[in-house]
Amino acid sequence: MEITAMKCPKCAGSINYLPGQRAVKCPYCDSVLDIKADPAETALDLAQKKYQNADAARVGYLNKLRSWKTKGRILLTVQFALTMIAYFLTEINSKDTGLYNFGMMLVLAVFVSIFAGPIWLKSKIPPAPQNIEEQLKLKGTVLLTIKLVAFSILAMFLGLLAGIILYR
Ligand SMILES: [Zn+2]
Repeated sequence: MEITAMKCPKCAGSINYLPGQRAVKCPYCDSVLDIKADPAETALDLAQKKYQNADAARVGYLNKLRSWKTKGRILLTVQFALTMIAYFLTEINSKDTGLYNFGMMLVLAVFVSIFAGPIWLKSKIPPAPQNIEEQLKLKGTVLLTIKLVAFSILAMFLGLLAGIILYR
């Protein structure tokens, strides 16, 4: 560690101090002296703080993205399950019974959710903090909406397929 020496302004005794130290006591006359921060050191401190802040912002953003993806998975799971249940209800029950109609209502709900779900998900995209790398940002593009709709349709078809396989 680099030790800096200075002369005590009161008794002219030599005082040693370490970098980063902001106050020092003279060993000869016991007077406490303030040490001015080195401009380079101050700049380094600021840069470090800025970096730490950016790092915290990035971690926070990535966590929010993770919970956004969880919302997406929940939506797809619900679409899958509702389609399967709707298939059972409409296959098992004869037409115009309460359960059959409930199954048809579920079919309608799933159809609506294929478009409403992605729109809802898009509105839940967390805002990206400033100074974050471009490739980490999730942008609510048209392509993303198309992808989400495609995933929803896939979930519906898989639910239908599962229903058919299980019902046989
Ligand atoms: Zn002194």
